[in-house]
Order: sequence, then structure tokens, then C-alpha cells
Amino acid sequence: MILIDGKKIAAELREELRQEVVELKAKHNKIPGLTVILIGDMAPSQIYVRMKEKAANEVGLKSEVIRYPEAVEEKIVLDKIEELNKDESISGILVQLPLPKHIDKQKVIETILPGKDVDGFHPMNVGNLSSGYESSVPCTPLGCYLMIKKIEPNLTGKKAVMIGRSNLNGKPMAQLLLKENCTVTITHSKTKDLKAECLEADIIVAAVGIPELVKADWVKKDAIVIDVGINKTDNGIVGDVAFDEVSKVARALTPVPGGVGPMTIACLLKNTIECFKRSQK
Ligand code: NAD
Repeated sequence: MILIDGKKIAAELREELRQEVVELKAKHNKIPGLTVILIGDMAPSQIYVRMKEKAANEVGLKSEVIRYPEAVEEKIVLDKIEELNKDESISGILVQLPLPKHIDKQKVIETILPGKDVDGFHPMNVGNLSSGYESSVPCTPLGCYLMIKKIEPNLTGKKAVMIGRSNLNGKPMAQLLLKENCTVTITHSKTKDLKAECLEADIIVAAVGIPELVKADWVKKDAIVIDVGINKTDNGIVGDVAFDEVSKVARALTPVPGGVGPMTIACLLKNTIECFKRSQK
């Protein structure tokens, strides 16, 4: 079984991006800039934002975090986004989710200029991705896609099963694999026989949030299995895939932690650089 080492692949990607930033700086005499807006003091969000900032600095991006207290008015956040939209030194804007209840998430997402939407959540980017046009792609599925391609460069005709249909994971992941000529099935909480669907799959991407949902007898021999789940349990953090047993049947499998997570952050940097390059065209 191939252990898909997300940490290592992400480190390689960051190194490629670092070199690209050097080249872009030489060509354009400026560097891509990422601004993250963080509202409130939720511990996981604080950790994610710190990791994103560290990674951005590591590859040489201009990076900034704007922090607001939990009670900040929605208008202040929207005005700041408008200001960043106009700022030519900012290539990418990310508003860390989740947001406090009094702030309208969709309004925030739609205020970010699609060309600076490094999360790929703006309806324009969602539409472009599903139409097969150039767009920002949500970071987690993009990271999963790059790992799958490392294992199997030619995905034509493969059967891929997404477990979970979220806008963040399942749906954009399905679009990426469809573009690679996979036959894609999106399953969800109302799917009748999830095990039977999974057993058909050459590729399984599990993004559910249920600890170790996917068992060995759900997985076809030699399938590629990508585990997006991050679940806190009494035994520590586990994924949506029962790692020990599935590793005996799968051809390749991502660990949790150390699989999808590091790739998500590296893909945020990739998206920022892509936004910069598109803005220079
Ligand atoms: P979500 O709650 O938005 O979506 C979960 C999906 O799972 C839904 O579409 C739902 O229909 C489906 N589902 C629920 N129960 C099911 C069942 N019994 N059978 C089949 N489908 C079922 O979650 P999300 O935001 O997509 O995140 C999913 C998981 O991925 C979470 O554990 C989250 O923490 C993790 N995550 C990890 C990363 C990363 O970088 N590694 C990034 C984002 C999310």
C-alpha cells in the first residue's frame, strides 16, 4: 500500500511555489499578497490562520492577517473587503470560516472579488469550475486532486465516489474528477446503500465528519482512498476512514493527520499565486 504522504507532497509544492514567487518578483517587480480576515477568537480558526500565515511567509508571499473581535459589525467587514478588492498589492482575500451568527456568510463570500477569491467559494468561481472554465478551486479538494494525480496520472474512465456533498469538499471534488473523465458519484446522508456505492469505486474521497465510517469491506482492492475527515475522539484525531483495516486493501491511502490537511494550506498559497498571475495578464 502506498501511504500518500501529504506532508511531503505539500513541502514539495511549497518549494515549487517559493521558486515561482522568486521568478514572479523578477518579472513583475512585485510579489503576490494574501490577506486573511479573522473574526473572533475560536481556537481552531486561530490555529488555521497561524498555519496559513507561516506557510505564506515561508514561500515569500506578502501576507497579512486582519483581526476583528467577535462582535464586529458586518458592515465593517464588508467595507474592509471592498477596500482590499481595490488594493492592487493584494492578490488574494480569505475570510476564515465559520463566522459569528450575526454576519451573513454568503454576503461576505460574494463581496470578495472573484479574481481575489482564494477559497474558490464565490458563485462565479463555483460556476466557472462546473463549466470547466478557469477559476479558483477550493483548497481542500484541490489538494486531494493533486495527491490523486500523483498516484494515478491518467484518471480517464475511473469510477470515483465522493462521500459528502458539501460546497467545500464533495461538490468541487466531483467537478475536478469529472474534468479528468472520471465517472463520478456523489453520495450523502440520504444515500441508500453507501457501502455498495463505495465498492464500485476506483477512487473514494471521504469528506463526512464521521470517525472511521469507511471500513475495509467497503473498499475495492487497489482503490485510491482519500480521507478528508478530521474527527476528535477519545483516541485522538481520526479520519472518516478506518485507516488500519483499509490500508490492507487500498492501493493508496492518506493518513489523518498528515494527509489532506497540509495540502489544503499549500493549495491556498497556490491559489494566491494563480490569482496574482491572472491579474497580471
Ligand atoms: P459538512 O458537514 O458540510 O458535510 C458533510 C457531508 O457528509 C454532507 O454532505 C452530508 O450529507 C454527508 N453525510 C453525513 N452523514 C453521512 C452518512 N452517514 N453517509 C454519507 N454521507 C453523509 O462537512 P465538510 O465541511 O465537507 O467536512 C467534512 C469533514 O472534512 C469534516 O470532518 C471536516 O472537519 C473535514 N475537513 C477537513 C479539511 C482538511 O483540510 N483536512 C478541510 C475541510 C473539512
